This record gives sequence, C-alpha cells and structure tokens, in this order.
Amino acid sequence: MLKQQLQAMRTFYESGATRTLAFRKQQLQQLKTAIHQFEQPLYDALRKDLKRSAEESWVTELGVVMADLNLALRNLRHWMRPQRVPTNLVNLPSASYIMREPLGVVLIISPWNYPFQLLFAPLIGAIAAGNCVVLKPSELAPATVKVMSDIISKIFPQEYALYVEGDGAQVVPALMNSFRFNHVFYTGSTAVGKSIYQLAASQLVPVTLELGGKSPCVVESDANIQVAARRITVTKFANAGQMCIAPDYILVHTSKKNELIAALKKAIVSFYSENPATSYNYCKIINEKQFQRIIGYLDQGTIVHGGNHDISQLYIEPTILENVSPDAPLMKEEIFGPFLPVLTFNTQEEAKAIIQNNPDPLSFYIYTADTKKEQQWLQSVPFGGGCVNNSGWHFTNHHLPFGGRGNSGFGKYHGKYSFDVFSNAKSIMKTPTWFDPAIKYPPFNGRLRLF
Ligand code: NAD
Repeated sequence: MLKQQLQAMRTFYESGATRTLAFRKQQLQQLKTAIHQFEQPLYDALRKDLKRSAEESWVTELGVVMADLNLALRNLRHWMRPQRVPTNLVNLPSASYIMREPLGVVLIISPWNYPFQLLFAPLIGAIAAGNCVVLKPSELAPATVKVMSDIISKIFPQEYALYVEGDGAQVVPALMNSFRFNHVFYTGSTAVGKSIYQLAASQLVPVTLELGGKSPCVVESDANIQVAARRITVTKFANAGQMCIAPDYILVHTSKKNELIAALKKAIVSFYSENPATSYNYCKIINEKQFQRIIGYLDQGTIVHGGNHDISQLYIEPTILENVSPDAPLMKEEIFGPFLPVLTFNTQEEAKAIIQNNPDPLSFYIYTADTKKEQQWLQSVPFGGGCVNNSGWHFTNHHLPFGGRGNSGFGKYHGKYSFDVFSNAKSIMKTPTWFDPAIKYPPFNGRLRLF
C-alpha cells in the first residue's frame, strides 16, 4: 500500500504538474489560508502537548512559518528565474547560468519540541522548489500531529503531499527501504540522525541533518549583566528548555558570577512568577521518559535556584545549578530541559577547553561589550550559528541560513536557503556556433599554455 502511494507520488511528480510557478504559488497560498483557519486549533493542540501559551507558540512556531511563507510567496518568481553568472575568458563567447530544478519526491522528518514549525518550515522550501513531499511528524506530540494532519489532508492530494504518522523507528525505515527518495530532510537527535544517514547512504540519497548538541553561552566580565540575564532566561526556559538552540550551559567570568546568578533568578521570577507550576507562560515536559531523563541530572550540581518538580504535571521548575564538573553527564549530554549549569572561567583558554569537551555545537552565544573579544570568540569556536548579546534569535531571521556543523548537523535552511536545499543547481553553458576556432581541437602541436 505504502509502496503504491509513493509510486503514485513519483508518477505525479513526473507529470510535471508541480513545476510551474502558478502551481507552487497556489499550494503556498492554500497553506497560508489553512494555517490562518487552523490557528486556534493549533494553539489548543500545542497547549495540550506542551502547555505552551498561544503567544509563545506564535513567536516560535506560527510566526516563523508565516514569515517564511510570505517571503516565498513574494520572491518565488525571482528565485525560480535562471541566474546568470559570468563566463571565464577561455569559454567566451559562451553564456553561463544556473537553473534551479526540483529534486523530486522528498521526505521531511520532524521532532516533537516545535512540532508544527519544524515540519512546516521545511515543507515551504520543498513546495517552493517544486517537489512532492512525504511528511513524517514526531509521534510524541499527538494533539498537534492531528491538527497538522487535518491541514495537510484538507488542502493537498496524497499524490502531492503524503502525511505518514507512527513510531519513527518503524515508519522511517519502512519508507526509506521501500522507495528511493530524492532527498531526506531530518530534524531531531544526533543518534537518530546517524541511522537516517546510514539508511540514506545505502541508496546514495542526499540528506540534510538538523541535529542537536550542547550550545554554550559565554558571559564576559564587561557584559551588560541585567540584559544578558533576561535574554538568556527567555530562551533557556521557553518551552521548558526543550529547544535545540537553547543556551545549554553558561560560562561566566568569575568576577560576574554572583551578579549574573542574582539577575537570572530575578528574571525567572519576573517571567514565570514565584511558582512557575501555575504560570500560564511556563511549559511542561513532553512525557515521563523525558521527565525522568532530565531529573536524572539534578544531583550533578548544587541547586542555587529551583529544583522543584512534579511528575503528575510533568513539571520541572527553571533550575540553576553551580559546582558542576565539566566531566559530569550534565556537561556531556544535551540537557534539553530547564536546567541551567553555571560554570566560571578566568581566561578564554579555560573556557574554550570546557567547550571543546563536546563536539561542534549547533549554536553559540557571547555576551560582551568589547568587539575585540566578540571577534576572538566568534572566530575561535566552531558552531552552526549564533548571536552576540542575544540567545537564539538568529533562528527567527529568515535572511540567515540556519543549521549546524559536524555533530550538530549539515545543510542550512530558512528563507531562500530552504528553496535552495530542495533544489538542484543545474549549471548550463550555452555556446554560439558562429565562433569555433580550430585552436581548441587536436592536434594541439605543443600548445600547452594557450590560455
Ligand atoms: P528524535 O530523533 O527522537 O525524533 C525525531 C524524528 O525521528 C521523529 O519523527 C521520530 O519519529 C523519528 N525517529 C525516532 N526514532 C527513529 C529511528 N530509530 N529511526 C528513524 N526515525 C526515528 O528526536 P526528538 O527527541 O524528537 O528531538 C530532540 C532532538 O532534536 C534534540 O537533540 C534536539 O536538539 C534536536 N533538534 C534539533 C533541531 C534543529 O533545528 N537542529 C530542532 C529541534 C530539535
């Protein structure tokens, strides 16, 4: 059955129907209309799955997707146009250009933490680039999965966009072993990313991997501590810390540690009240498995704020930990929850040694007022993307390519980069026939350095 459905998608793709500008724009427009129609059900579902406020869901999910959709609708004609490039002297009077063609039938696999945005943002790129799409959401956010299914089935025929639900460990191999996709776009953990890469490699299918890791946040002695504390807190504890680009841990200059911790506590209380368990603005942990995993870290440092938790509500309080060993599992594994270890440094070398204990992070944040220090940090730490005096907001600018490097993934998307990731850049050289000098053909008679 699945095999036949996928074959029907291939046939539909090969009919050429998805290639025209009019078709692609129509699908994007339909998607936009449907998201408006389903806005409230999406907020309700995200509240059910993650206890997230509508406001936070707008900023981190619907707003991000809408911005990408509007950009694609405005610019698609321009993106699809062949791009003229210069021709080198040896090839003149030829002309050269790049045609962007769709890849074919692509597979998008997404995680549960931002279940809507992480499925629909790549979908926009895939549609804009003229592909047929199989969508595999995470089974762990069931309420949102249901609304997304309603959206997709309402607006798209199955031979164009197929929505496949279920346990990833079963469904994904079944999909990838029964069909040769033209591209796989995966967002999720590094461990599962490796098995997706292996599945794809056996058929030489190209992949984009958007993975996780430990994103460091450095606070220098000259940083504006009050502002830094608010900007770290808002990103670290949004979605109860279940965010791939959340600052995983803080490295603060020893001289500012106490001031920073005091400011972080103040920010936590002002954002989520003295009792975040009852705050409309504070999320829950997705399930018991994740709850137990996060709580397992609690004894790996000294609690200086928070620490309360309640499994019946899947609630874990925003928690600051100090006296954490760089060798503890808390500093070796991605936390993906509301625990914030604060470590100190006296020299940049000390801090860099701690960062280098882990593979290349997805994001990196540096808080400093000194542009020289800023550049030293940005140039010496390898990472996917990041911010200066800010945490995580680079993600929301669709003019910036988003993605990791090394263990945090490869391939970039958002905005025009999403269109590019789902397109093949076909290089074309067009050569006139009126000029055809014999000098280009054998026998060359020793003409080694003609050009
Ligand atoms: P996950 O890897 O468990 O699941 C992601 C997707 O893979 C789901 O659709 C799931 O059904 C599927 N899946 C699960 N096991 C599979 C298997 N054995 N074979 C094939 N597919 C399988 O990830 P998660 O727990 O849902 O998400 C958390 C991770 O994702 C964190 O590490 C986080 O950093 C990362 N993440 C990265 C980004 C990014 O943009 N780079 C964004 C969000 C989350």
